[in-house]
Amino acid sequence: MLRRMMRCTSTRSAAAATSSRMRPSVGEYARGIRAGDRAMLGRAITLVESGRRSDQALARELLQELLPETGRAQRIGITGVPGVGKSTTIDQLGVNLIADGHKVAVLAVDPTSRRTGGSILGDKTRMQRLSQSPDAFIRPSPTSGTLGGVARRTRETMALVEAAGFDVVIVETVGVGQSETTVADMVDFFLVLLLAGGGDDLQGIKKGIIEIADMIAINKADGDNAERAGKAAAEYRGALNILTPQSPNWAPPVLTISGRDNIGLDALWNKILEHNRIMTASGERDARRRQQAVSAMQDMLTDRVMETLRAAPEIARRLPEVEAAVRQGQMTPAFAVEEILSLWQSSARPACG
Ligand code: GDP
Repeated sequence: MLRRMMRCTSTRSAAAATSSRMRPSVGEYARGIRAGDRAMLGRAITLVESGRRSDQALARELLQELLPETGRAQRIGITGVPGVGKSTTIDQLGVNLIADGHKVAVLAVDPTSRRTGGSILGDKTRMQRLSQSPDAFIRPSPTSGTLGGVARRTRETMALVEAAGFDVVIVETVGVGQSETTVADMVDFFLVLLLAGGGDDLQGIKKGIIEIADMIAINKADGDNAERAGKAAAEYRGALNILTPQSPNWAPPVLTISGRDNIGLDALWNKILEHNRIMTASGERDARRRQQAVSAMQDMLTDRVMETLRAAPEIARRLPEVEAAVRQGQMTPAFAVEEILSLWQSSARPACG
């Protein structure tokens, strides 16, 4: 048994040594990314997504190194239920943008990807033409499981693709749980794709989604469906009218588009540019980004503190008991928090000293 453990340990350390020998340095990663080397970009994203501590430390250094090169892209979030036409629309929009000289990266936030055993978003096969373009970069959702973890990795991947020269970053989400808000919190512009649904358009739409939309586009406005899409758009305009917009300078427009037939996508892009001009001039774009950066830091800090806390053996043992006591109404939440924190303080002291 002991021998087997020793063998495992030595195999592991040999593998670790090989991988660290072969691993590029921060400078090599940064040079490759700045030069637009796709293989290096892919490896850096893998580093950002890795759960290994040494990878995470290297990723942190790399992101800090690349900080001056980040933030240059137009960041767009897109949400909509499966089948609404996200990938068809992104494929066509991406192709149009590349024809105009842009470089387009498509990332995905899909917190269900671990549960379903694969990402349902951002899959290369879903964006046929875009995936073949040298000016496009498509990355499926990280598969870390929790939304917070997926969001962190996506934000960091966004920084890497920006440093690699992609000037349009599209973050796609299917809208599970809080994923829309999470994506809206990492982009400059949040687009909601909807379908005309024959009279009950305002039903079945997730509460709160309209409040965070910078624009609504009714997709599949083609053929026989064009008229219904027009009616649905009018209905949504009415709904938006009674809401107070997020910004005094922007009333979210409602457009009709056909991603499949490339109808309305120029108008859609022009609206995004108009929003960008207005928000930049008013200072709201920078304010939104600064707030997003601080929120990201706070979320990460909360996650890391919880991680550290749970790593303490006494707490790992006691926490489930305390949670059970709270669940059964035997202990108040405040009392439970106090107990866990004092346990942490006493357990942390020798280790940190
Ligand atoms: P996603 O799940 O939101 O990514 O949706 P897809 O892009 O995969 O599209 C789902 C289905 O709707 C596919 O069969 C597409 O061909 C179809 N579709 C997508 N966009 C349009 C459109 O603008 N018009 C029509 N008529 N069909 C579309």
